[in-house]
Amino acid sequence: MHVLARYNNPMLLSWFRDRRRQTLLAAPFPTWWEGFLAKNVAHYGLISPTEQTNLRNITRILIAEKQWQGCGSLFVTEEMKVTIAAQAALLLLGNDHRYFQHVRKVVVFPTEFRTPVAEDGWEDDGLSETPLAGRAVDRGPVLLAWDEVLPEGRNPSGGVNVVIHEFAHQLDFSERLTTRAPPLGDGELESRWQDILTTHFEQHHHAISRGKRNPLFTAHAADSLAEYFANACEAFYCRPATLKQLYPEVYRLLAAYFKVDPLAWFGRRG
Ligand SMILES: [Zn+2]
Repeated sequence: MHVLARYNNPMLLSWFRDRRRQTLLAAPFPTWWEGFLAKNVAHYGLISPTEQTNLRNITRILIAEKQWQGCGSLFVTEEMKVTIAAQAALLLLGNDHRYFQHVRKVVVFPTEFRTPVAEDGWEDDGLSETPLAGRAVDRGPVLLAWDEVLPEGRNPSGGVNVVIHEFAHQLDFSERLTTRAPPLGDGELESRWQDILTTHFEQHHHAISRGKRNPLFTAHAADSLAEYFANACEAFYCRPATLKQLYPEVYRLLAAYFKVDPLAWFGRRG
């Protein structure tokens, strides 16, 4: 009983975790992983050298601390882990957000997939009608289709990125971002977080219901504030110039939250 209590001590557990991370990061970054980053994660070539070092470290921690599971006969290779973890790491460059601590597992499918749905009591015989490229479960796994992950990782300005989308949902789940403001280091902006998100979501919802299309936000983003937020994160990381031009307040909000400036990354390339 005494021993159990000692090893359940949160301070002791976090000490062990920090020691594990130090040991992990003290070893050289595998050179072939660097090759995966160069080939599959185009953002990697856009960010600054300091951010690249940070991204490599975050990528290693995510790979080491999450369980990786393949579905549909897929074996999760090191290349898949690096490609997925590095794209998720983009969201943690300015703030580690506890390395998505509530996400224990990343499940990879070879192609789009169907999952059990809540409305059917999560029974296997009631799979989602729409095939999915990705899915995030609150305090559960992230599910991804590899044939979506790869081309989107290689094309940073395509405007869609399923890894960023699903991991943005996980940040929302753990920090309740669609119902309250996170610390932004700017009281004025924090006080307007909810209002800015809600107003822009409602305008998008209204426009979609009237049959209008949007260059950045999908019809799916009009379904809920959570979907709008995840879509906004994709736009922020993949098409920052257009987001800033069309919705400067949303860009400012996300720049304060993520503490990075993707506009500078894409400008650097030009
Ligand atoms: Zn979504």
